[in-house]
Amino acid sequence: MERTITTQQIKDVAQEAYHLYKDNTDGKNADYIPYLANIDPKLFGISICLMSGEIIQLGDSQYRFGIESVSKVLTAILVLRQYGAPKVLEMIGADATGLPFNSIMAILLENDHPSTPLVNAGAISANSMVQPVGNSDAKWKAIVDNMTELCGSTPQLIDELYQSESATNFNNRSIAWLLKNYNRIYDDPDMSLDLYTRQCSMGITAEQLSICGATIANEGLNPNTGKQVFDKSLSPKITSMIATVGFYQHTGDWLYTSGIPAKTGVGGGVMGVMPGVMGIAAFAPPLDDAGNSVKAQLAIQYIMNKLGMNVFNGHRIHVQ
Ligand code: GLN
Repeated sequence: MERTITTQQIKDVAQEAYHLYKDNTDGKNADYIPYLANIDPKLFGISICLMSGEIIQLGDSQYRFGIESVSKVLTAILVLRQYGAPKVLEMIGADATGLPFNSIMAILLENDHPSTPLVNAGAISANSMVQPVGNSDAKWKAIVDNMTELCGSTPQLIDELYQSESATNFNNRSIAWLLKNYNRIYDDPDMSLDLYTRQCSMGITAEQLSICGATIANEGLNPNTGKQVFDKSLSPKITSMIATVGFYQHTGDWLYTSGIPAKTGVGGGVMGVMPGVMGIAAFAPPLDDAGNSVKAQLAIQYIMNKLGMNVFNGHRIHVQ
């Protein structure tokens, strides 16, 4: 079915969502990373970037928060660009784990069968793959340049978050070395982990994330800058990965209730990709038990359902 939705309708529904959930106090800031525990839990922002490049923003959409696990999507795109889709499938995989983001059990269960760059293990593998292998500074530059191209502007490292996370990331250190044991790390394990921790500590705004989501939705063409960031053919690959594991063990419930592939981070951000229509991002620090932002989920679910947008209903949406 062909459907037309006006930009005004999207604006109205986004505003409704913002006001409906603004004062919701459910959930709790991530407490295993000291910096995140102290962020103002009342912050709440929504940003939607349409294929025309128009951006709809509400609340704290310009606040820089820790991108955390949403960064996994951006670096997955970088290794897809550098290696191509078949090689990423072979070296990391594209499967759901059905387990929490930092699961060690998932690695043990899949020791000879990598999972996905969108959980901690696969993300550390992806960082190890970033070219040029062996050169930490040049790898970091490639990661940041790729983020900048996807988001339309450069995210800034939150140094305090990086220090806070580096000092407490014992579980991730185990993951990096366990991966090494299974030949699933392709550079120095400590360097790969450090790059992963640094990319998670990038400060990003909901506006920037919505532009990144829109670039994925727009087959790699950034609607904000007009630049073709990655090959068209990679767009469904990355969206399928997001759809499969974006909310970890709650991914099925998320897709069922929202109808949009999206990726979360413990900084409180969620980035959704509605192919051919928009990128949507919401940010609010308090999380549910799986580490996903409560208010960001409610807002995106509300917007999708109220507009009748769903990747599975087969509607071809034209935004006017
Ligand atoms: N840096 C965090 C970690 O590795 C990211 C987790 C997340 O956002 N789910 O623990």
